[in-house]
Amino acid sequence: MTSSLTADSRGIIQPCPACDSANRIAFARLSQRGRCGTCKAGLPFPALPVEVSSEEIFTNLVAQSPLPVIVDFWAEWCGPCKMMAPEFTKAATQASGRAILAKVNTEKLPGVSSAQRIQGIPAFILYKGGNEADRTTGFQPAGRLLTWAGVA
Ligand SMILES: [Zn+2]
Repeated sequence: MTSSLTADSRGIIQPCPACDSANRIAFARLSQRGRCGTCKAGLPFPALPVEVSSEEIFTNLVAQSPLPVIVDFWAEWCGPCKMMAPEFTKAATQASGRAILAKVNTEKLPGVSSAQRIQGIPAFILYKGGNEADRTTGFQPAGRLLTWAGVA
């Protein structure tokens, strides 16, 4: 069982629960239920955090997602970030179909964290329609994070 999903510059890679094929769900279609390109089974909504691995993926996800996007800015050396990881995963599962939860490693993507003016971590930014709607910092249980984001 993986604990995160990957993405490319066009969408989130969602394994098919029936045949395990990798399917790309375009960022712009994240609010719709897709079908597996191989076996035509219905694909679930993403229910795990998405690992953001490039600046382009970050930009496209935030700009194109019709669902609110909650981004966790974290780093390996940050104890509270590590405590937060299982809560963030739980939040991604609970908000499946209503919000996309994504993770940015601030050491791997320093350009994204400086452009977003991240100071203390863990930091959480809520994006709606391509714009920052709110931000908060520090460890918090999944339920409180989703209530803050308005998707509980
Ligand atoms: Zn399939």
